Amino acid sequence: MIASFPHAETVIDLGAVRHNVSLLAAKAAGAEVMGVVKGDAYGHGAVPVARAAAEAGATWLGTCSLQEAFDLRAAGLTGRLFSWLDVPEVDFAPGIEADIDLGVSSVSELARIAEAAVRVGKPARVHLKIDTGLSRNGCPPADWPQLVEAAARARNVEVVAVWSHLARADEPGHESIDAQAKLFAEAYDTARAAGLDPMRHLANSAATLTRPDLHFDVVRPGIAMYGLNPVPTEDDLRPAMSFRSSVVLTKRVAAGESVSYGHTWTAPQDTTLALVPAGYADGVPRSLSGQMDVLLGGQRRPVAGRICMDQLVVDCGDDAVRVGDEVVLFGNGRSGEPTAREWADKLGTIDYEIVTSMYRPRVRRRYVGEQV
Ligand SMILES: *Cc1c(COP(=O)(O)O)cnc(C)c1O
Repeated sequence: MIASFPHAETVIDLGAVRHNVSLLAAKAAGAEVMGVVKGDAYGHGAVPVARAAAEAGATWLGTCSLQEAFDLRAAGLTGRLFSWLDVPEVDFAPGIEADIDLGVSSVSELARIAEAAVRVGKPARVHLKIDTGLSRNGCPPADWPQLVEAAARARNVEVVAVWSHLARADEPGHESIDAQAKLFAEAYDTARAAGLDPMRHLANSAATLTRPDLHFDVVRPGIAMYGLNPVPTEDDLRPAMSFRSSVVLTKRVAAGESVSYGHTWTAPQDTTLALVPAGYADGVPRSLSGQMDVLLGGQRRPVAGRICMDQLVVDCGDDAVRVGDEVVLFGNGRSGEPTAREWADKLGTIDYEIVTSMYRPRVRRRYVGEQV
C-alpha cells in the first residue's frame, strides 16, 4: 500500500524511454531491438517500460526469468519475449505455452525443455547460448558441438538463435571483444554445419552504440534504453528516471549548532536548514553523507550531516526556501541536479545499480510522458 502522500517518488519519463529506443533502433538499423527489462526494467517498472519500448519499435523484450516474462504476457505484451536464466526446478511448460523464447546453456537444460514441449504439444523456441568468454552461463566451446547436435536432433524444439554476451563491451577497442566475436562466429558456423539456420544476437547497449559489425539480427540494449550511456559516446540518450522529494520543514540555526546523528556537521555561520523526508529506507545511500548535493530552488545545495533512515537535512544558507519546495535528489542533470552516474561514481559502483535499487515500497513511482 503506497501512501497517498508519498515522502519521495521516482518519476519515470516514458517519452525518454521511447526516444532512447528509437535512437537505438536507428543505430542498429537492419537489426531488431530487444529491449532488456529484467530487474523490473532496471528499477523503472517492467510493464510500462515494456509498453513504451514496444511503441518505439522494440519487437523483442528480454527478461532474466520466466516469471518476469509471464508478468509481461499477463499485462498484454504480445511481441516476442526471451528469457534466459531460470533455476533447475522450473517447469518450462507454461513458458512454452505462453510463447516465450528460452535461452539454453547445456544439453541437460535442452532435454528438460524438450520434455516440457512434448507435454505441451507445441515446439519450444530456443536460443542456444555459447559462452565466448564471460564465463557465466552459456555453453563452453568444448561442449558446443554436442549441444548443437542435440538441438538439431531434438523433436519439439525450434532453434531460433545462437547468442552470447560480452564481458567488456563498455571498454571500446578492448581485445576481448574481438576474441569473443571470433568464438561467436565459430559457434555459429558449427550450428550451420549441423543443419541449423539460426539468427544471431550478441550486442548489449555498449556494443549497440560502438560496434555496428556486431549487431547481427537482434541487439539487446538495456541500460541505454533508460538513458544511461555505458560508453563515452555523444549519443543523445535521455535519462528516464529522476528521484524527488520536497521540503517539509525549514529552520534557522546559529553558527556552531550541529546537525543529525553524530553531529558530523556544524554550521559555520547562521544558516537556514531544510528538512527532506527521504533517507536510506527510501534509497538515499547513507554512505553519501557528507558528499551529496540536491537541487532545491534551482540551485545545488549540500546535504548537512548524516543521512538518516527517513530524513536528510539540506544547508540552504540565507536563501528563501519554503515548505513544499521540490527537491531533486538525482535526475537527468539538465537543470544542474546530480545524476545517477554522479551517485555511482561517489559510491564506487555503476549507475545500473543506482537505478535498479530505486524500487522501494515507500517510494511512489510516477509515470510521465505516456503515449496518448
Ligand atoms: C543485462 C543484459 C543485457 C543488457 O545489458 P546492458 O549493458 O544493460 O545493455 C543484454 N543481454 C544480456 C544477456 C543481459 O543479461
